[in-house]
Amino acid sequence: MSRSQAPASFVPEHDHQRCIHDAIDTAQALCEREGLRFTGLRKRVLELVWANHEPVSAYDLLKELRREKENAEPPTVYRALDFLQQINLVHRIESRNAYVGCEQPGESHVSRFMICSRCNKVAELVDEGRIHDAIAEEAARTGFRVESETVEILGICRTCQSKRQPSRA
Ligand SMILES: [Zn+2]
Ligand SMILES: [Zn+2]
Ligand SMILES: [Zn+2]
Repeated sequence: MSRSQAPASFVPEHDHQRCIHDAIDTAQALCEREGLRFTGLRKRVLELVWANHEPVSAYDLLKELRREKENAEPPTVYRALDFLQQINLVHRIESRNAYVGCEQPGESHVSRFMICSRCNKVAELVDEGRIHDAIAEEAARTGFRVESETVEILGICRTCQSKRQPSRA
């Protein structure tokens, strides 16, 4: 990531094996620390979510798991996803009804996302509180009680911007 500030997800030539490896390592350490069981299934689901930086649906995860284990049932996938979501290892992309791996796992945070509408890749926005403060301020001003903040920004990543667009007929 030397030549740009773009998040790894938007840099096609990054070492993605390392992303997967780091995600699994972090998950393992986190579960150990918290006394949670990082079962084979939970690990496999996390690996599958991290297969790339694109959101993956529970349905696609199940399809993938069934290739490996014919009797994989939907509830097992949902339970594994719930578990991973609760401890912030994966996030749900509401607009896609699908999941991505967390890029800063282990710390509790509100997640915000940039989603490329061409390559479908997602990057997590690291917000030092500015967006949160702006929302909180606006909510206070209008007497609104915030229960959750979903910020999903659609656009075109740097890599896709630099590619020539297929001409439209
Ligand atoms: Zn990666
Ligand atoms: Zn996150
Ligand atoms: Zn893109």
